[in-house]
Amino acid sequence: MSEPNCEVTGKRKYLSEREALDTATHQLTLPNAPKNLRAYLCSWCETWHLTKNAAKK
Ligand SMILES: [Zn+2]
Repeated sequence: MSEPNCEVTGKRKYLSEREALDTATHQLTLPNAPKNLRAYLCSWCETWHLTKNAAKK
C-alpha cells in the first residue's frame, strides 16, 4: 500500500483525526520530538495532517 504524501503540503496523510492524534502521541515520546503537535484537516486533500505549529488565538 503506497499512499503518497499530500501534494500541497508534502505532509503524511492520515485518514482520520484519531489516527493523526495517535501518531502525534507516539511522536511526542521520541527524543528530539517537537514540543507540540496538533492535527488539522487539510482543505486540499481532505485528509488529516500533523503540524508543529501551536494553535494561537
Ligand atoms: Zn493535504
